[in-house]
Amino acid sequence: MKSYRKELWFNVPSRRAFINITSQVQECLLESRIKEGFALINAMHITASVFINDDERGLHHDYEKWLEKLAPHEPVGQYRHNDTGEDNADAHIKRQVMGRDVVVAVTEGKLDFGPWEQIFYGEFDGKRKKRVLVKIIGE
Ligand code: ZN
Repeated sequence: MKSYRKELWFNVPSRRAFINITSQVQECLLESRIKEGFALINAMHITASVFINDDERGLHHDYEKWLEKLAPHEPVGQYRHNDTGEDNADAHIKRQVMGRDVVVAVTEGKLDFGPWEQIFYGEFDGKRKKRVLVKIIGE
């Protein structure tokens, strides 16, 4: 069995963003030379997500609105977590809802997606360097 590991780095200039990382994961898969197996892709931070969905701007706008309704960033004083001096309690909650990781089957050297599936990095507390782990195992 082969094993491959790579960290993808991001430094999002805004507090929140959704970034399509599918092509970067495909590059990892090519580099790994693995043809059959699994790829795990996870955010290495507790205020960011990795998830799979459609690359459609309206949908991303809907996510942003829905997440802000669920856990608004302001006022930051409404969260106990922010008593620590941080201001990112909302980002922890958004991350929990949007998920930590995804697993994608690798078949014949390709990410074995369903229709319209794309992999996204969801940033909820940006303006600093953060990482995504790509781990691929198989043959
Ligand atoms: Zn925090």
